[in-house]
Amino acid sequence: MGKRYYCDFCDRSFADTGVNRKNHFKGVQHQRLKKQHYDSFRDPATILSDDSGKMPCKRFHAGQCDYGDSCKFSHMTQERRQQLQSMVAHQQAEKKRKLHEQLAEPSLDEWLEKRQKRLRKEQTPGAQEVSDVTYELPPFLNRPNLPPSLLPPASEELKNKPQCEWG
Ligand SMILES: [Zn+2]
Ligand SMILES: [Zn+2]
Repeated sequence: MGKRYYCDFCDRSFADTGVNRKNHFKGVQHQRLKKQHYDSFRDPATILSDDSGKMPCKRFHAGQCDYGDSCKFSHMTQERRQQLQSMVAHQQAEKKRKLHEQLAEPSLDEWLEKRQKRLRKEQTPGAQEVSDVTYELPPFLNRPNLPPSLLPPASEELKNKPQCEWG
């Protein structure tokens, strides 16, 4: 019993001889699956732009082209192109959405939640009850990136303010 070669792309194995391997790697089926595998890691926009410079392969579209991957003409089917185009459109929409999210100001709920957390932290057992004074921003100032001088002091800061001795 000789060794067997297992091809990951094709999910099949065959007797491992030089000739068998060579024939297998040349096979259209193997090349198609291999390309498909690597294409799945490539950016669809890149695939499309690579392909846009190629003339359609007459042989391929007439049935079969033996050049497979190494063909200098395009083997892109209409179906595949549409699939890629919709992938690109989807990616762009996703990018836009993310950008929009980043630009969006934190909602009032988020702000309140943060504040609530801060307050809870102060109420750890054993913490000295100093005062429950909290400073709240007027609603029109409730926005991110305020200059520090406009930020209300956290009551934590008020409680923990250094004991200055002026001399
Ligand atoms: Zn294979
Ligand atoms: Zn071709």
